[in-house]
Parts: sequence; C-alpha cells; structure tokens
Amino acid sequence: LFAGQVEFLKGVVAMDGLPPADRAEVCFAGRSNVGKSSLINALTGQNRLARASNTPGRTQEINYFVLGPEHYLVDLPGYGFAEAPKPVVEKWQRLLKAYLAGRQTLRRAFVLIDARHGAKKVDEEIMTLLDGAAVTFQVVMTKVDKTRGRALEDSLARTREALARHPAAFPEIVLTSSEKGEGLETLRAIVADL
Ligand code: GDP
Repeated sequence: LFAGQVEFLKGVVAMDGLPPADRAEVCFAGRSNVGKSSLINALTGQNRLARASNTPGRTQEINYFVLGPEHYLVDLPGYGFAEAPKPVVEKWQRLLKAYLAGRQTLRRAFVLIDARHGAKKVDEEIMTLLDGAAVTFQVVMTKVDKTRGRALEDSLARTREALARHPAAFPEIVLTSSEKGEGLETLRAIVADL
C-alpha cells in the first residue's frame, strides 16, 4: 500500500468538496505540533508530502492523499491552537463533525498523541466527537524517541485511562518515532489490513 507514490489530491474546506466516497480511507488527527506531518511523511517515505498541509492557509483544510489504487489517506487540520479566532475554530469543528459523521468509507481515525504528554483535554474532545460519529479510532504515540522508561509508562497509563472513557477507542496503542523509524512498519500494516 505504501510502496508506490503517494500523491496529494486536494484540500477540502467544505463537505461538497470531498472526493467521491469510492474507496476506503483512514484519517490522521492530532494537536498542532504533535508530529503529524512528520509521521505522514515518514510513513509514505516522502519528505515533503505533508508539508502542504502545514503551510498557513492550508491548516484548516482536510487534505486528501491518494494511497495506492484503492485508498485515501486523510490529513485532518491540527487542533488545539488556543490563539485561533473563535469563528475559525467553530467553522472547522462543524466541518470535522460533518466529515466524521458522514463519511461512510472512513475505516479508522488515528489520533496522534505526544508520548511525552499523553492524552490531554483537547485530545479527549476529538475522541468524544469520534464516539458520537461511531468512528473507531486508534491512538498513535509520536516522538517516543524523546521519552523512555517511567515517563513513557506514565503517559501511556494516562492515555489508557482516557481511552477507557471512549467507546469508539481501539484498545491497542501504537508507539512511533518518525525520527528513528520506530513503529512505522506496524502502523503501515494496520492501515493495509483495514
Ligand atoms: P505537526 O504540526 O503535527 O504536523 O508537527 P510536525 O510534524 O511539523 O512536527 C513538529 C515538531 O516535532 C518538529 O520540530 C519535528 O521535527 C518534531 N518531531 C516530529 N516527529 C518527531 C519524532 O518522531 N521525534 C522527534 N524527536 N521529533 C519529532
């Protein structure tokens, strides 16, 4: 699935801009700066792929990538920017809700969480949206190279506690480091199996 070229298809700002729901898709969500672009780039082996979604103006778009002949990879806007103007935040929350609830072909959402911090309140807000939309989600810990041992155990424990509160949560957490390549093969295999 990840062997071939992965191509940027389009940035979507409204529901009517979504491509036809004619193939399976997975989406990636996470707080700004969690390492989402780095992870998408590392997964696909393409350095600049997810950069587009990180440039100003693109950040509120749902970015679609074509993954193999039969899948879409969807990069959701980073959340948790306190300084974003309220109308902007509300607009993207509406779009996100509509997308999650209405996209029949969405197989799983990956919620990225910084291994140093574990699940925070904003992450749980997204998890609640996913529960409401009945979209199975799986937590992917990012930047595990930055934390080991007790600190990682604590953040995992906190995250597992949070997951227990969310019926749409898939129990298994994937540990990754885009920097070191850790967990990438595991995550690719999970996506390919969906
Ligand atoms: P995004 O806003 O979620 O797309 O985050 P980025 O992918 O732009 O990453 C945010 C920052 O974290 C950048 O400085 C990255 O270099 C750094 N980063 C991302 N992934 C890793 C990782 O696996 N390990 C380390 N040590 N740093 C990372």
